[in-house]
Amino acid sequence: MSETSKMDRNLALEAVRVTEAAALSASRLMGRGDEKAADQAAVDAMREEGATALSAMRGPCIRACCYEFSDDDLDAVAGLFGPGVRAQSRRDLAALDLPAAVSAALAAEGIREEPGIEVCTACGEGYFSHRARRDAGRQALLVWREPETG
Ligand SMILES: [Zn+2]
Repeated sequence: MSETSKMDRNLALEAVRVTEAAALSASRLMGRGDEKAADQAAVDAMREEGATALSAMRGPCIRACCYEFSDDDLDAVAGLFGPGVRAQSRRDLAALDLPAAVSAALAAEGIREEPGIEVCTACGEGYFSHRARRDAGRQALLVWREPETG
């Protein structure tokens, strides 16, 4: 195995270790009605494992066009992530702007956001949507660690 391959393998293993720590920390809190705490636990775990410059890219997700929310539920999310999460669906009903919520959460943590994939999984073609159709399939999540420069 070449030195480059060993370094790539070590980086990959390190990324898996950090990601696993984040997932385990977040999993203890998910589904308890406090997703913000789960996100915080994931970020804290990554930082405790040595991650310094975190960045993220939003993957495909359901978007406001298809994600209608009750006023009460929307108020709750807006209370966590700000008024920017309020949107209108294509039927002109109250809707959650999920990408805006994710962006607000990333900004609150000081995590740099890379350009995301701007597609709605509910009305876009070729994506799974549990929320819209109860699809069993899921999009994949990729996490990687880039070598430090300088
Ligand atoms: Zn849509």
